[in-house]
Amino acid sequence: MPIEGTTPEPTDEPQWVMWTLQRLSGSPFRAKFRLSDADLAYARAKGRVTIDRHAHEMLRARVGDARPIKDGKQTPWKGHPVFTAQHATATCCRGCIMRWHHIPKGRPLTDAQIDRLAALVMAWIDRDLCDHPMQPQLPIETAASAATPVESPRPKPTSTATMDPLF
Ligand SMILES: [Zn+2]
Repeated sequence: MPIEGTTPEPTDEPQWVMWTLQRLSGSPFRAKFRLSDADLAYARAKGRVTIDRHAHEMLRARVGDARPIKDGKQTPWKGHPVFTAQHATATCCRGCIMRWHHIPKGRPLTDAQIDRLAALVMAWIDRDLCDHPMQPQLPIETAASAATPVESPRPKPTSTATMDPLF
């Protein structure tokens, strides 16, 4: 974790979000999560305001209590972009929240804590949406591979979105 330990935790929320995303990118486990095609389609269909509301509701319902039910296993691996984002941002259970975000277990999350974790979830979703349809696994072009035709990148959808352009 190159960032942690060298820079203090920012108190300003947008800075904290960026700082935390940076820390998370140092974890191979967290960094491997990507929105699925179904997540992307769902997020774009619902729009940012709705997904942001879902993030607040789902965090409150699943990790907001002092002792959430089935803590550690309460967040499905798929089925909603917020679920994916929760695993990616270590907001999936109170154990991960304690280890990564230093919020102790055994007491309910405050509204401010829910807001902050939801902002992190939304920033991660924003970034992942932004990355699509990037194909990070495309081979680096070398003299040897240059001759091999590479699958042409998906065309950028012509956006007719009325909401946030990322969605
Ligand atoms: Zn967890």
